[in-house]
Amino acid sequence: MITLSQLTPHLARGWQTRTNSAGSVALTFDDGPDPETTPLLLKMLDDAGLKATMFVVGQKCRKQGSLLREVYAAGHSIACHGYVHTRHGFRGKAFLERSIRQSSFLLDEFGVKI
Ligand SMILES: [Zn+2]
Repeated sequence: MITLSQLTPHLARGWQTRTNSAGSVALTFDDGPDPETTPLLLKMLDDAGLKATMFVVGQKCRKQGSLLREVYAAGHSIACHGYVHTRHGFRGKAFLERSIRQSSFLLDEFGVKI
């Protein structure tokens, strides 16, 4: 059995936030789709009968379109992590708008709704 800490060590630290739904847990994963980790993650989630939200990076989606489609077809939610993987908090408004717009157009090209 593969554990989250084996898949990506920093995932084991986890993050917590409050939700309005008692007894529920939201799983989110960043930085994909990645050909090395995403297939393993999909298998783990499928084995556990869980769905997650995947914050994808536009540049990676362009290279890993079939993997992006596989994630979406498996019923996971897709969310935008920007077109490039960088600290968006230090960028200007124009950069942020372009990054989100580029990612949105790309996801549309792949038939993925966010
Ligand atoms: Zn990230």
